[in-house]
Amino acid sequence: MNQLAAYLKQANHTVVFTGAGMSTESGIPDFRSAKGIWKEKDPMQLASTYALMRNRDEFFAFYQKRIKGLISCQPHRGHKLLAEWERDGLIHSIITQNVDGFHQRAGSQHVIELHGTIARLHCIDCGQAYDLTKYIEENGSVCTCGGFIRPNVVLFGESLPHDAVDQAELESSQADLFIVLGSSLQVSPANYFPIEAKRNGAKLVIVNMEPTDYDEYADLVIHDRKIGEVLAEVNQLLI
Ligand code: NAD
Ligand code: ZN
Repeated sequence: MNQLAAYLKQANHTVVFTGAGMSTESGIPDFRSAKGIWKEKDPMQLASTYALMRNRDEFFAFYQKRIKGLISCQPHRGHKLLAEWERDGLIHSIITQNVDGFHQRAGSQHVIELHGTIARLHCIDCGQAYDLTKYIEENGSVCTCGGFIRPNVVLFGESLPHDAVDQAELESSQADLFIVLGSSLQVSPANYFPIEAKRNGAKLVIVNMEPTDYDEYADLVIHDRKIGEVLAEVNQLLI
């Protein structure tokens, strides 16, 4: 923790990269745990363009369940500390793979959402925008035009939003400290950014419960610790 606090104080341009592990302490399962909930179906198959076109009932049921979970959960102290650190000038931006919108809810301003968000929805036929509460309704996937409403997430089979990728590339190239929080770094191409930052001379820190394939490139690795606890301890050392 001392090392991470020292890095944060020294750095001029810190970029934080978050994955599903950032939100498990809020009660939102990561994909590994989610597989437990969806025993027969792989979420990767439901969160896909195939399901959107061919398996709409299950697609809707999957996202309805995720949205209900989201509404009943809150950002935790780790999300809030990141927002405070941004206000204090300690971190510059957050690149996230998460679609839960919790960084913004906690007060972070500069958030780059690589995989979109489930906090907003739209009709794929007429483009009408909807709030996420629409998906809680029984027939919440049906637009007033009769078309199908989907969340504004990037599905498996879709490419990442260009503007988010461009911003993430810029942030990764400018970073002198790059901190990964709660990502298995298995999802490509999102996992390219930590390496991009490292290649450009940034110090790389990985905070993840389990080992990742990228640990060998990191200057500091923290395993077996919850992100919320790690950030709270580091925060004490910053005062
Ligand atoms: P992942 O599920 O592949 O990996 C999460 C990692 O976080 C795991 O290695 C786990 O050991 C670690 N972890 C879990 N809780 C932790 C904690 N409290 N402290 C420290 N480490 C913890 O997640 P990923 O790399 O983000 O990739 C999964 C994909 O699924 C992403 O594309 C993401 O968009 C999507 N997803 C998003 C959410 C969300 O928005 N909250 C939830 C599930 C999946
Ligand atoms: Zn419509």
